[in-house]
Amino acid sequence: MIASDKTEKVNLLDFDRKGLAAFFVEMGEKPFRATQLLKWIYQEDITDFDQMSNLSKSLRAYLNEHCTINAPEILIEQIASDGTRKWVVEMGLGNRIESVFIPEDNRGTLCVSSQIGCSLACTFCSTAKQGFNRNLSVAEIIGQLYVAQKRLGQDKKITNVVMMGMGEPLLNFDNVVAAMNLMMDDFTFGLSKRRVTVSTSGVVPAMLRLNEACDVSMAVSLHAANDELRDELVPINQKYPLSELMDACRQYAKTGPRKHITFEYVMLDGVNDSAQDARALAKLLKNVPSKINLIPFNPFPDTDYRCSAKETILRFRDILYKSGIITTIRKTRGDDIDAACGQLVGKVKDKSRRHLKLQIKDSSNVV
Ligand code: SAH
Repeated sequence: MIASDKTEKVNLLDFDRKGLAAFFVEMGEKPFRATQLLKWIYQEDITDFDQMSNLSKSLRAYLNEHCTINAPEILIEQIASDGTRKWVVEMGLGNRIESVFIPEDNRGTLCVSSQIGCSLACTFCSTAKQGFNRNLSVAEIIGQLYVAQKRLGQDKKITNVVMMGMGEPLLNFDNVVAAMNLMMDDFTFGLSKRRVTVSTSGVVPAMLRLNEACDVSMAVSLHAANDELRDELVPINQKYPLSELMDACRQYAKTGPRKHITFEYVMLDGVNDSAQDARALAKLLKNVPSKINLIPFNPFPDTDYRCSAKETILRFRDILYKSGIITTIRKTRGDDIDAACGQLVGKVKDKSRRHLKLQIKDSSNVV
């Protein structure tokens, strides 16, 4: 692991290709230095500037003096019985976030965090109970992929990334966009835009400007088909109600790489899982190119919610299916190490709880 650097050196993991090219131009170098650098770091696994043989001596000396390649450090690794791995990653000042690797036969998915904690207070999510500390930097986001791939070795390739870990990615727009552009860059991991997914609780203004900044697949955490219930489960709905959210989804689907939106819907016993709820959901999504992913609720300490019964989930799926929407039921992975959806907690020095209500009301300022 790379030792942490306490000086004020520029961390090169904080740049996407465009940013890195601008950095080199500013110091009087040619912009192609950016691709050379990215290749050394992400493809050759070289972090010692002196080993970067196609850079001039003077440039290597400059980089040694002013720059660093500083990835976050994995503190704890847990491996579940199904092969899912959870890593607790150090973020300094008593904060830790979690990333999860989910191996499948033909792909390996990394679930990446975007913030330390979360400010959105969704009632069924344990990350929300931790409060919020700060946004992660580009280096801390791409660094999760960098250290995970290093840890897994070359025979376990990360083929997919889902921004579904701790935090609301679209409330950390610039850093998340730069990190996603970086992971899709041919000179780094070269992930396909169909295999990078940003998941949002519905930050509408950010959804509307995402496709100009970054071409990735989109998932929306819906969880309710009417405003009254969604206001309660996903409080940001009070700011951006379903009609606005659906408009933003329709718009994104026109240009996004998958031409549809994936809707996540957590199955909560007696709360949002009736046949009537399923019919309302089908009606809501009638004019939105959609796929639905039903997520069995994963319990955590001190929650009153329970997961819907298996038969209820199947009945719910069948109603959606009959109305013509492709609907899958998410297989719960890594629950024996608390790595399943909504179970990621890390360690968050909460700075925000007093301001929680204000932040939700005022979230347009944060976007
Ligand atoms: N803030 C973003 C990213 C988090 S993604 C978003 O809301 O989309 C994590 C996914 O897991 C979301 O769909 C979230 O609603 C869901 N989730 C949260 N808590 C859960 C729980 N206890 N059980 C199952 N799914 C949960």
